[in-house]
Amino acid sequence: MRLYSTLQREKVDLPPPPGPIRMYFCGPTVYARAHVGNARPFVVGMWLRNWLRTRGYDTTLVHNITDINDKIYAAAGDGSSGELAAKATRWYLEDTAALGLGLPDHLPKATEAVPQIVGFISQLVDSGHAYVAGGDVYFRVASYPAYGELSRRRVDQVEGQDEEDRPNPLKLDSRDFALWKANKPDEDTSWDSPWGRGRPGWHIECSAMAEELLGPAFEIHGGGLDLVFPHHENELAQSRALGHEFAHLWVHNGMLRFTGEKMSKSEGNVVTIRDALDRWGHETFLLFLLTGQWGKPIDFSEATMDQARAQLETFRNALLHDATSHADWSELEAVLDDDFNTPEALAVLHRWRAAGATDDVARGLALFGIGGAREDAPDLVRGLAEDRQRAREARAFDEADRLRAAIEEHGWEVRDVADGFQLVPK
Ligand SMILES: [Zn+2]
Repeated sequence: MRLYSTLQREKVDLPPPPGPIRMYFCGPTVYARAHVGNARPFVVGMWLRNWLRTRGYDTTLVHNITDINDKIYAAAGDGSSGELAAKATRWYLEDTAALGLGLPDHLPKATEAVPQIVGFISQLVDSGHAYVAGGDVYFRVASYPAYGELSRRRVDQVEGQDEEDRPNPLKLDSRDFALWKANKPDEDTSWDSPWGRGRPGWHIECSAMAEELLGPAFEIHGGGLDLVFPHHENELAQSRALGHEFAHLWVHNGMLRFTGEKMSKSEGNVVTIRDALDRWGHETFLLFLLTGQWGKPIDFSEATMDQARAQLETFRNALLHDATSHADWSELEAVLDDDFNTPEALAVLHRWRAAGATDDVARGLALFGIGGAREDAPDLVRGLAEDRQRAREARAFDEADRLRAAIEEHGWEVRDVADGFQLVPK
């Protein structure tokens, strides 16, 4: 199996199974309901882990929660930043659970990794790659000549990275970035350190949590394309400055683009994961994500979601029929093993569907969390659907429509099929 890696700028082969394949995917900064775009790195990480397991790999997936960050202090205002982060963490876990893909192996929180982070910073200070300036600690970019290797920026051309609105005049070089920030009067959570009370910078949190759980060298680091610079560049520099390989492959998912009239009109109103799942259901949303190659941007609009829903319908209708043939799984393996090409995988599944290989289609969709666990409708809903069936047979269509609406109020949708009806969760 091979995957396109930002660092090597080409597809890189994974070691043969069982690996291991250890993966770290950057998670959200928790201060509000997660934006629908935050779902993509989670989904790509979970799908990849599932496929690697199917192919016989021993995998570990770490997905962190950034619960110490400037944005959290800002969003909390006069309230407690710790409480806001804890609440938003619960929201994120609820919303990602609703995607129906299960959980990563580890979900570390920065607040629970402060001792490891302080230890990591101390090693950078001791080795001369970091310096103390007031109560802050900065990474000395000039001390690591390979800086820029991930984002392909030359170290002498990197511009300043003042991540916050209060630049420290003691900072030696505008390119240097904070590893530790002294506590400010308006920040209500802080920790002890050899440099005084304060809190870690965002980049060092991920280096420390990744190495703590996966070791100083691991196979895959993932996250959104917007994190390549400065976040991932800085993670790589911190770890490699200490002589650790850190991640071998870097996989970056493309962004969701908000297009179409209605989506543009709602500009400013963030579409959350929860909004998307309430509106379209998790299987339509997952099918939508399958239509885009993970590394490319994907257009999120009414039209593309409607298309995804229609594709899902086509598959669901096909799955009502018993298999009349069997598929050749090597077709699916070939496209997923080559850079995890999910649009091609969908095309393969549609070919299998057309050929009547419905058992294989169901197994294929289940790899991506679609149609894996179909719930049975409760007796009450089933009874309403049976009444509706009788109303239709008696040509009492108004009554049938009323019963359809009642079924929908219970969260189910009734579909008419050749030999009766089918109930699917809405
Ligand atoms: Zn990160």
